Amino acid sequence: MVNTKNIKHIFFDLDDTLWDFEKNSSAVLQNLFVEFNLQNKLNTTFNLFFHHYKLINTALWQQYYKKQITKEYLRNNRFNEAFKHFKYNNYDLNLVVTNEYLKRSPHGTILKDNCINVLNFLKPNYKLHIITNGFKEVQNIKINTCNISHYFTSIIISEEHNLTKPDKQLFIHAQTINNTVSEECIMIGDSYEADILGAQNAGWQSIWLNENIVADMPNQIKNLKQLLTIF
Ligand SMILES: [Mg+2]
Repeated sequence: MVNTKNIKHIFFDLDDTLWDFEKNSSAVLQNLFVEFNLQNKLNTTFNLFFHHYKLINTALWQQYYKKQITKEYLRNNRFNEAFKHFKYNNYDLNLVVTNEYLKRSPHGTILKDNCINVLNFLKPNYKLHIITNGFKEVQNIKINTCNISHYFTSIIISEEHNLTKPDKQLFIHAQTINNTVSEECIMIGDSYEADILGAQNAGWQSIWLNENIVADMPNQIKNLKQLLTIF
């Protein structure tokens, strides 16, 4: 398991680690689905639409990380790609839904279970930080709306540094601005590729927040509450 002896800095991912991206974005999309009468236009249920939207969104994010597509392309096509899965093609409506979604979703206030308890527990003994892949204006709204910024010594948003997890340069940058070394840092996140491999690349320890624990993989937790017994 993790060796916490030398750890001074705990870095958290934001989306689906502290901030419940899934629940917040589902709530907004469900409202938009009704408002724009997508049930009839796509001839499907919200749950099926949401399922396919998530698959398409994840695939586009992978392409963005690999620098195969731009931020604008990702933003302006993901809903239409999901529409097209249901044989509906309407780029203009897709843009309207996109704008509403981007405007509303960062204002969601649902944090992962026990998030605040865990931050209160860790704060007296460790310096806490966020490293998040995402867009600056969006991530800042989430952090401020949920009123959690005071827990963190540094908040590192990939877009501001032109680097994205798992690029080890982003982790090294996090070390540098906090005047520390890899042995004192640990990363906690829900993405194996971005958070765990990224931390490994930089020589950090890591804890993978993974609701569906995978056999034979070290340092996994099912929920944030388990951090209370590790630190
Ligand atoms: Mg995440």
